[in-house]
Order: sequence, then structure tokens, then C-alpha cells
Amino acid sequence: MRILVIGAVAAGTSAAAKARRNSEDAEIVIYEKDTHISYSGCGMPYYIGGEVENGEALTPRNPEFFRKKYNVNIRTEHEVLSINKEKKEIEVKNLTSGEVFRDHYDRLILATGARSVIPPIKGVVNEHVFSLRNINDMYKIKKYVTGKSPKSAAIVGTGFIGLEMAENLKNLGMEITMVELLNQVSPGLDEDMAIMVEKHLIDKGVHVILGKSAVEITKNQVILSDESIVKADLVIIATGVRPNVELAGQIGIELGITGAIKVDRYMQTSEKDIYAAGDCIEQYHSVTGKPVYRPLGSTANKTGRMAGNNATGGELEFRGVLGTGIYKIFDLTVAQTGLSEREARFDGYDISVSHNIKPDRPEYMGGKEMVIKSVADKKDGRLLGVQIIGPEGVDKRVDVFVALITFGAKVQDLVHLDLAYAPPYSTTKDPVMYTGMIQENAIFGNRPVITNEELENLIASGENVRIIDTRVEKQYDSDHVSDAINIPHGDVREKINELDPQMITITYCNKGTTGNAVQNILLNKGIGRVYNLSAGHKIYSRYQLLKKKTKV
Ligand SMILES: Cc1cc2nc3c(=O)[nH]c(=O)nc-3n(C[C@H](O)[C@H](O)[C@H](O)COP(=O)(O)OP(=O)(O)OC[C@H]3O[C@@H](n4cnc5c(N)ncnc54)[C@H](O)[C@@H]3O)c2cc1C
Repeated sequence: MRILVIGAVAAGTSAAAKARRNSEDAEIVIYEKDTHISYSGCGMPYYIGGEVENGEALTPRNPEFFRKKYNVNIRTEHEVLSINKEKKEIEVKNLTSGEVFRDHYDRLILATGARSVIPPIKGVVNEHVFSLRNINDMYKIKKYVTGKSPKSAAIVGTGFIGLEMAENLKNLGMEITMVELLNQVSPGLDEDMAIMVEKHLIDKGVHVILGKSAVEITKNQVILSDESIVKADLVIIATGVRPNVELAGQIGIELGITGAIKVDRYMQTSEKDIYAAGDCIEQYHSVTGKPVYRPLGSTANKTGRMAGNNATGGELEFRGVLGTGIYKIFDLTVAQTGLSEREARFDGYDISVSHNIKPDRPEYMGGKEMVIKSVADKKDGRLLGVQIIGPEGVDKRVDVFVALITFGAKVQDLVHLDLAYAPPYSTTKDPVMYTGMIQENAIFGNRPVITNEELENLIASGENVRIIDTRVEKQYDSDHVSDAINIPHGDVREKINELDPQMITITYCNKGTTGNAVQNILLNKGIGRVYNLSAGHKIYSRYQLLKKKTKV
């Protein structure tokens, strides 16, 4: 059996290694047009920023390693030009000698990955304009940064690569401007969470320009769609990636609606004996079952392993992705898994949305607050998605949520988790459990929460709404939700008779807990419909920022 693999980064090398584990007899050859293999692309921004001192640490393996350890022949600087599916052959060009030759396969694995999208901006091809996709890109940027000492940089695009580059270049002392076509940073997040990332960038001295595109790049500036000018001795284009599907397309392999290669759950393409894995394939979402394109190293490694296994007679089945992602931006970690509010509404779910703000461990142990936004199906309480932002402990919570959503957990399951607790690590009831409690109370316990947007829609619908600020007078006076009256928690029982029981009531405090306590009192005393404002004034003030911004 001769197995040929095209591409030698995450998916291709995982496929080859797994194929070898399954079969000692197979001949396995990987063709890679680049000079580097099996590298950690994810670490590249940190080498540019200087946190990783040695670039070679990101490329720990070379073809010799694979030859010795796996008996896999990796031929770098060899580009596959075409596939002949009838003859089961590929045409390969040796990029150093120029020689073109054919090679035969019994099984072929496409691990051709993705490439950076470069928008058609005037002047984009320029010695100070870069995108970051592979190790050679990384060294080019590093060389430019060290050799030319740019003072300012513009980053076009605010996905995780753009954000990681912003932090790393800022840490080198450059003045950074991020330019984004959408009205929010970090496009995968809901707007009410993205605004926190934006605020953090601004607090760290990064300029953020939203709702505009770069139309021209000159020697030291970027001209935007409204003709405004951004100073930039260096420009990073981080506007996403596109799957490399040309070889597959040439021989009629079916592509999915996202434009990536369509595979079945066993990584088999529409063509017999041709498998595909990694950033060149379309995946499906494990919550909705719908096709998605989420090009990530985590998935590339996993699907590569499956392709290698199944090409050698195995039957590993892919169970889809949740679109889980995590990144660090200065002092914050931002993580997301499952459906966002926007996606869940788009897919027609009737949802309950809540935000909770809790420290990652007790404040006496240095705990710091994180915000967890959760989305659950009102029909049965199934958890659909979560977004978390905070300085510490976000990684651990998001992974708990990943496991929960993967196995179809309902919000009412969360409080029963026997999570590990000791003060250096968590609070007695972990923030994950609070998420479940708030959502369970909201969906099944007549303790509904309401988001700022839902509140606005309620008021706009003509409902007569009373909003009660349950904080102390001083806090109310410093700022409050518009049209709110102030009845501090301690005074509620005395004043309850003054309240019309038929009117819809909204309670809130700073972060949600006291608002919920007052909600309980009112409901227990027979006040009709009472909602607690999701995560109280803290989220309200972020929401106001968001609204101010959209008005500009
Ligand atoms: C800056 C950066 C940060 C990232 N951070 C994260 C992160 O934190 N977490 C995460 O999960 N993911 C992250 N990723 C994404 C991750 O790196 C990719 O998902 C992963 O590299 C995909 O691996 P792959 O093997 O599918 O594709 P690729 O890495 O794109 O490799 C495909 C290879 O195929 C080769 N090839 C293509 N066509 C041919 C041909 N015709 N002939 C020969 N060779 C060919 C290409 O040269 C390429 O080397 C990051 C990516 C970047 C750029």
C-alpha cells in the first residue's frame, strides 16, 4: 500500500504518523512545497513579539525525524501540480531542481491547508506589508521589525491572529491601529462581549477603528474608506484564511457550501481512495449539524489523525466541532464555544441568554472577575453556547463547557457537577455552576433574566415597564439604567405595597446577585412578572458604550 500525503504541517504529519502506527508495511510519502514542516503556527506571534526567543523552538521536527521515527519520507520544496484519479497518480515539481515527475498512490490524503486572504487593497504588495501564515512569513516580519525598527503598525482585521499581533507588536513599543470592516472587534463574539475586548484594547493604548476598510497602503500610511489616514510603518493583513482546494477542484472533488472540501465523517472525499483533513476541509457543527468552516490547529491535528487511520483501514468517526476558540489579549483571555446568541437566533432557537460575573477564585486568594455569557434552549434547557472573558481561569471554564455541550448537557445539570474546589483554584460554587443555576432559575424556576437588548425591545413594544435599581443610593446617583427608580434591597419589603402588582418589573444591581434577591422577594410577594437584568449595571454600562458607538 502506497500512501501519498500533500501538505506537511498539522494535518498531513498527523495523518502520516497515524497511518504508520496502523501499518508497518505501508509506504508513506509526504510532499510539501514549503521549507518547514510540522510547525506550531500558533506560536508565531509570540516569536515576533519576543516572548518566544528562539524561532526554531516552533519547528522542532524535520524530515529526518519523521524518517527515523516513523519511516515516513517527507519531501519538502516539492509542489504537487495535479492529480490523475483514473491512474491514481500525482504530478510533482521539485522546486529546487525544476524536475517534474509522477508518483503513484493507493490512497491519497489532501492536507493542503489554507492561505491568508489578501484583499485587493491598492499598494498591498509592498515590502512593509505582511500576512502571517507560515514560518517564512514569520521570519520575514521579524527581520523587518528588527532591521527597520518601525514605530507604528496598522493591523487590518481583528480576528484572533490580528489581535495576537496587536499585543505582540505593542509590546515591542509600536503605536498600533487596528482597522476592522465590521462594527465590532473579534467577529465570532457577540457584540456585547466584543465591546469588552475593544475597551481593553483601548485601555492598553491600541487605536481601534471599526466600520471602515483599508483602501490604499503607501510607504508609511494606510488610507481608509472614509479617506482618513492611519500612520503605519508596518502593515499586517489579518483578514482571515481561505482553504487550498485547487487540486481537489481540478478533479471534481465535491466542495461544501463553505468552499472547503466536503468530507464524510471518515474524512473520505467524494472520490474513492482520496481523503482530506485539516484547514482544507469543511466540518460540521456538533450542535446544529450544519456545515461550518473553522480552520484551527486543534481540529487539523484531530482530522489528520482520522484520515491517516481511515486510509489504512480504520474507522474513526469525526463528531464535528463546536467552534471552540481561545486567545489572549494583553491581560485578558477570551474564549468561546458552541453557538453565539447571534447564531442561535439565526438558527431559530428560542433562547434564554444570561451573563454572570464571578471571580475565578475567592477574592481573598486574588480572584478576579470573569464574565460568562451563556445561551440555552428554552425548550429543554440544553446549553447551546458560551463566551467567557476574564483575566484568569477562563481556559479551565471553557473546557468544562466544551465537555458539557459536547455531551448535550442541560443547564439543570450544571449545579450537580462535582467540580474540584480549594481556594487557590475556584470558589465553592464554581462560575460554571452559577451559569447553570441562573439559567435553570430563568427557564424553569420563574426567575427570568433579561438582556439589555431584550429590555429595549420590551419597552419599544409599548409594555408598561418599571425598572428598580436595588443598589444603595450613592451607586444609583453615580449612574443608573435610564428611567430606573431606586429602591435599595434593604427597603424593598417596606415599599412593596406601593408597587402595582400588574406592572412588569425589572430589577438590577451591580452584577446580578442582589437584583435576583429582590426579584425573589417581589415574586414571592405576588408581584406578577419580574425580570432580573442580566449581570446588572456592569453589563448595562458596556451596552451603553456599544450603543453610543453604533450611533456615531
Ligand atoms: C498566526 C497563527 C496563529 C494560530 N493560532 C492558533 C491557535 O492558537 N489555535 C489553533 O487551534 N489554531 C491556530 N492557528 C491555526 C493553525 O495553525 C492551523 O489550523 C493549522 O496550521 C492547519 O494545519 P493544516 O496542516 O491543515 O494546514 P496548513 O498549516 O495550512 O498546512 C498545509 C500545508 O500544505 C502545503 N501545500 C498546499 N498545497 C500544496 C501542494 N500543491 N503541494 C505541496 N504542498 C502543498 C502548504 O505549503 C502548507 O505547508 C493559527 C494560525 C496562525 C497562522
